Amino acid sequence: MDTYGRYPLELVRGQGVWVWDSNGNKYLDGVAGIAVCTLGHSDPVLRQALVEQLDKLQHVSNLYRIPEQEQLAAALRDRSCADRFFFCNSGAEANEAAIKLARKHGHRVRGIAEPLILTAEASFHGRTLAAVTATGQPRYHAGFEPMVQGFRYFKYNDIASFESLLAACEAEGPRVAAVLIEPLQGEGGVNPGDPAFFQRLRQLCNAHNILLIFDEVQIGVGRSGRWWGYESLGVEPDAFTMAKGLGGGIPIGALAVKTPFDHFQPGEHASTFGGNPLSCRAGLTVIAEIERRGLLANVQQRGAELSSLLGALIERHPTLLESSRGWGLLQGLVLHGGTVTAPDVVKAAIAEGLLLVPAGPRVVRFVPPLVIESDDLQDMVQRLERALGRLVP
Ligand SMILES: *Cc1c(COP(=O)(O)O)cnc(C)c1O
Repeated sequence: MDTYGRYPLELVRGQGVWVWDSNGNKYLDGVAGIAVCTLGHSDPVLRQALVEQLDKLQHVSNLYRIPEQEQLAAALRDRSCADRFFFCNSGAEANEAAIKLARKHGHRVRGIAEPLILTAEASFHGRTLAAVTATGQPRYHAGFEPMVQGFRYFKYNDIASFESLLAACEAEGPRVAAVLIEPLQGEGGVNPGDPAFFQRLRQLCNAHNILLIFDEVQIGVGRSGRWWGYESLGVEPDAFTMAKGLGGGIPIGALAVKTPFDHFQPGEHASTFGGNPLSCRAGLTVIAEIERRGLLANVQQRGAELSSLLGALIERHPTLLESSRGWGLLQGLVLHGGTVTAPDVVKAAIAEGLLLVPAGPRVVRFVPPLVIESDDLQDMVQRLERALGRLVP
């Protein structure tokens, strides 16, 4: 179906940070499946682990205990603030689980008959009906009304906006079950969270027994240079979701919860494919390889390098480029918003053998594999500069 506006490019092969199209052209991959291919393409260690798992057991139902799933939960528990995990297959599905958990929290802990969930403007939480309702961008709602009940929106990083929404919702008693928010807004324009805002948000949620849930689907699993985005904010969520980077390209998502907020009873939530041995083996391998190869340090160093390369590029093209922002290897290059748009830059970059992805009309997003090296970053920015030359001769 015509659900995607696709570039006329057929990718058939990948190796590390490079991909090839069906005409034999080679591209430096700054997209990585949109923050998915953590270890790059055709990683030999991930391949070997998956082959071995396929030889043993690929899929069994959650009717039975699954050791790979229990091992992945333990690995995530050892590296995060959460202790309980529900596994699914995508980011939207992880957020759906979070939304159901939030509503149970509202009923059980706050005694609310019709609980509300507060989310941010310019957020992105996925395309299923409740996740897209949580997404605070009207353009994603258009045509799919009526939206799911029980969502209200505040301005990201704006504590006055949050406080006035909370006060309005709670004017006649408890109404708010949870806040669902990205530590850094990816899709909505690469907007990093403000630690002061998040610390105040944490205090308010504590004071009202409101569940604070982070959507770590894009920034989580090492992309910020730390395991989780919340580590850059000085606060811990009560629950968080992850997906994109966790399987290194094998579909997997998860809802992570601190024990006191694990409100699910057996039979209340489920997934046929979620937590199967193959996808959990992928998650376990990605986590092990991030540590064995020192990729968190690599993300910190390469992220700083990319940021300074973009800074120099902005100085050379001040009329076109405004600024850059982001954490680790999730960086956004902000255009001034003249006639040249982010999609124009992405198209011109393809002609220079470079893959990038817009985050809205004015921001070009860089989410390369976490294994990227310094030379690749230099190459990337040189290709980008040649692409800019195509747009503004
Ligand atoms: C991509 C994304 C999602 C949706 O994930 P899918 O796997 O496409 O359903 C949700 N939240 C955030 C922050 C994302 O970046």
